[in-house]
Amino acid sequence: MVDTEKGKVYVNKTIVVSGDQIKAIEDGYLDPISNEIIVDLKDKTVLPGLVDMHVHLEGETNPKRYMARYTYNDADIAFESAVYAKRTLLAGFTTVRDLGGSGVNIALRNAVNKGLVDGPRIFTAGKAIATTGGHADPTNGSKKELIGDPGPKEGVVNSPKDARKAVRQRYKNGADVIKITATGGVLSVAKSGRNPQFFIDEVKAITETAKDYGMLVAAHAHGDEGMQRAVKGGVKTIEHGTFMSEETMELMKEYDAYLVPTITAGKYVAEKAEVEGFYPEIVAPKAREVGPQIQGTFAKAYKKGVPIVFGTDAGVFPHGENGKEFAYMTEVGMPVMEAIQSATVVAAKLLGEEMKIGQLKKGFYADIIAVDEDPTQNVKTLENVVFVMKDGKIYKD
Ligand SMILES: [Zn+2]
Repeated sequence: MVDTEKGKVYVNKTIVVSGDQIKAIEDGYLDPISNEIIVDLKDKTVLPGLVDMHVHLEGETNPKRYMARYTYNDADIAFESAVYAKRTLLAGFTTVRDLGGSGVNIALRNAVNKGLVDGPRIFTAGKAIATTGGHADPTNGSKKELIGDPGPKEGVVNSPKDARKAVRQRYKNGADVIKITATGGVLSVAKSGRNPQFFIDEVKAITETAKDYGMLVAAHAHGDEGMQRAVKGGVKTIEHGTFMSEETMELMKEYDAYLVPTITAGKYVAEKAEVEGFYPEIVAPKAREVGPQIQGTFAKAYKKGVPIVFGTDAGVFPHGENGKEFAYMTEVGMPVMEAIQSATVVAAKLLGEEMKIGQLKKGFYADIIAVDEDPTQNVKTLENVVFVMKDGKIYKD
């Protein structure tokens, strides 16, 4: 049994579950009393359910995806997202942070909470906030009749005033967290993958407004200038961080901002950029430029002591492969236990759920997973989760 708080692995333990909670952790293998059910995981390694701080449950990249936004209604997105939610849960991720979609991800969260759909507990940004032509402007690449003039309601802002409204609109829609696209990105139909796309007064307006509603702000960022503005503007997590300078690494430590590595997504887009026609012509060069950089930047940031929290950008690659991130993190220097902690206790703290998730401990949700081997001996075992319990209910056995 992995103790994620102390960073230790124990043997001969019994976890007593009652309802949706862990009632006790006992030494040795207890016999069942009266009508208790025994789940025998003696030859497995048991961990708390994992947390992925960066997923997009509404979709999955493939060559046809760029058409979907002209053909899909919300209901189409919803049915598809239910499949991805279940796949994510069965991969051992019992909690995720969804960093942007159309807003169907809010309904998905609610459906999971009601028990209508099998999926992880979801903290969602709803629709991400961008500036005009920015990475999350939903009309990029469309012909003029389809472009209109998206504004704060649609998540497109161009002033501090717009920014405040966009955050309040997200709160009204039911978002748990705010996501901004601080720089260009790879998969949007736009030229630059790294230019800064917010002024610092706009970033500040977003983080200050979000604070009023108890929401943290996550910023997608590849380029260094946009990343610096985000950190100085009060953003809590930098997603990707691809071209992060040493100066920005120091700033992140100073501001206690976390890097969300998304190495798996970087590897995937670099690979698919070489497949003819997989991405639009304007996207492929960005994928080749950005993708291969991400793991190296993570390695540097980790060595410099930048706070790290686990996140993959699943949806850019197939959902359910989130566990690959662990091996990518450890092959460039992060100890396995620290990688596991970044996906449990560290993530739980950033979600404000540190008393409920991320540990196997009395009073915590019974989010429990198991793998065949001790992950500190073989990290790849985390890519094949064989048992999943969430809220005391078994989903995979
Ligand atoms: Zn993303």
